[in-house]
Amino acid sequence: MSTAHSQIVSRIDETRLQRALRSLDGLTLGDQFGELFFLEVTQFEDLVGNRKVPEQAWHYTDDTEMALSVVLNLRQHGKIDQDSLMHSFALRHDMTRGYGPSMRRVLSDVREGAAWRTTIAGTFEGQGSWGNGSAMRAGPIGAYFADDLPACIEQSQLSSLATHTHPEAVAGALAVAVSAALACHDSKPSPAEFILAVADYIPDSEVRSRLLRASRLAPGTSPVHAGHMLGNGSEISAPDTVPFAVWCAAQHLGDYEEALWNAVSAGGDRDTICAIVGSIVAMSSRTTLPANWMSLMEPYPQWFREAL
Ligand SMILES: [Mg+2]
Repeated sequence: MSTAHSQIVSRIDETRLQRALRSLDGLTLGDQFGELFFLEVTQFEDLVGNRKVPEQAWHYTDDTEMALSVVLNLRQHGKIDQDSLMHSFALRHDMTRGYGPSMRRVLSDVREGAAWRTTIAGTFEGQGSWGNGSAMRAGPIGAYFADDLPACIEQSQLSSLATHTHPEAVAGALAVAVSAALACHDSKPSPAEFILAVADYIPDSEVRSRLLRASRLAPGTSPVHAGHMLGNGSEISAPDTVPFAVWCAAQHLGDYEEALWNAVSAGGDRDTICAIVGSIVAMSSRTTLPANWMSLMEPYPQWFREAL
């Protein structure tokens, strides 16, 4: 019975940490790939149109840096521990990694001793951030808890609430985590079925509305058009980022490179869109991360490798 099919190991049979690390690999590869494409328009269209990777050094950004703290937190606590997660975010915060101005301020204040709950409660006139910063790091949480969806829901919300308390940001993180969890199950849904299955877990919100809109896009819709319809992250908000990313992942659950080329082609917040898509698509047992891209990646920092 040694057919090719029987040799495929479902991600559900891996350990929780193995799955989180696999999603993290997909996330950072996407983050670094997407970051290469902040180019002048003509060059961007030429390279994306011809599927040519820019010849420059690959670097990870804030998406990866925050996800590293998330994965270590899961490794150390078996769940999200908000206090130590925020401590790690603040301690590891590298201003050169492309954080938004609000997050830079928050993490600097917390590093200097401010109480994080008070600091976060004061952001955006008390409404909390609805940026995509908690969604971009949620894939590994979904992968870790893929065998326990109630825990996936609870823990991805806890991770979001450490930095992004607006209900739209929480919904965005939840949608990404659930997507990564469902991708582990390899039930081979159609793209629309996958998106609807994710939307089932999301409370009423703009994120959910746009997910439902994404599920209705006709098969064969171009990513550029989908980006126009759903948002491509150029507003840096969760609703403007997550539904398009989930749509991209759903189209190409078994093909990492195809998913990433589609994700980057809509422009917008391309490192974060690609990070999210990568963290989801990496979890399908049909997906292999491209070795030639992996060889170009900036490696994980020493502090992460030693702590693991
Ligand atoms: Mg980034």
